[in-house]
Amino acid sequence: PLVLGIETSCDETGVGVVRGHTLLADAVASSVDDHARYGGVVPEIASRAHLEAMVPTIERALTQAGVAARDLDAIAVTAGPGLAGALLVGVSAAKAYAYALGKPLYGVNHLASHICVDQLEHGPLPEPTMALLVSGGHSSLLLAPDITTDVRPLGATIDDAAGEAFDKVARVLGLGFPGGPVIDRLAREGDPEAVRFPRGLTGPRDAPFDFSFSGLKTAVARWVENRRAAGEEVPVADVAASFQEAVTDVLTRKAIRACRSEGVDHLMIGGGVAANSRLRAMAEERCADAGITLRVPRPGLCTDNGAMVAALGAEMLARGRTPSALDLPADSSLPVTEPHVPAHHGH
Ligand code: ATP
Ligand code: MG
Ligand code: FE
Repeated sequence: PLVLGIETSCDETGVGVVRGHTLLADAVASSVDDHARYGGVVPEIASRAHLEAMVPTIERALTQAGVAARDLDAIAVTAGPGLAGALLVGVSAAKAYAYALGKPLYGVNHLASHICVDQLEHGPLPEPTMALLVSGGHSSLLLAPDITTDVRPLGATIDDAAGEAFDKVARVLGLGFPGGPVIDRLAREGDPEAVRFPRGLTGPRDAPFDFSFSGLKTAVARWVENRRAAGEEVPVADVAASFQEAVTDVLTRKAIRACRSEGVDHLMIGGGVAANSRLRAMAEERCADAGITLRVPRPGLCTDNGAMVAALGAEMLARGRTPSALDLPADSSLPVTEPHVPAHHGH
């Protein structure tokens, strides 16, 4: 099926077009530069930017795909989780297009989309899918027997998300926002073994699939403060590399443990942090050693985009899932266990 997907959960206005597992267009307009001077995403600015970018980005995606709106088989949109006002812009646009074109509407889960996008790159997901989801707001290990209906959390962060830790450490180091890409770049010139930062929740009595990154963030901040207080120069690249190493070590270790414990022979990694070059390399190495097949989408499909929403919408349609109603609500806290919002949900 030919599906258009709309993503507006945070600061990216993303519109993608797919035909089944084939990516036809992926248009993204980001308001990230407007937020940079505030050190984080400002919801009001994001909503306004989505409003301005929405229709032009839809048109750009249709042109890129070389299809007409009337040829679409369905419209998919991120229904949640995310910023309420930002989600509302995408949901309203999707409803308008679905209604005007007389096509089914699928309100889908942003987190399930981060997983489903890999079908555009590596073909059908194995079932069940074992996924490590690491993004700005989430870090979890998920087991999905069916990405359109059944997503089960095995564990999640008990405090900060991995991406959030990258952003906070970047702020401590004075590197600006968003922190992930800058730390990734800087770390290439640093020594990952320069400082041994703590690996949270990896003790024998700790929850095997949960994460904790707030202690790590504090440890980095304290280490940097001590250096500064002593009047010594902070080896920024070394700190970035050592921090990144700690995050990556814990993520890959727990993900492989989850695969072993569930008897799954592959691992999917999705979400913005999956764009991280060290995480990709370490996962590659450790999965190979463990006999696990690794699936990670290319970096541009890991960070927020519309193609991932279209991919999940296409899967919903292909599997005959009930479309959403035209009164589909934006749900800022839509749980990961609900891959889509069918009609009459909660009525
Ligand atoms: P969520 O998906 O949980 O709702 P989000 O949509 O804001 O959150 P994503 O766009 O999926 O998050 O990911 C953004 C996060 O990914 C940011 O925290 C950013 O710093 C991080 N990130 C992006 N690129 C990299 C990278 N190369 N290395 C590490 N982190 C990265
Ligand atoms: Mg973003
Ligand atoms: Fe995201």
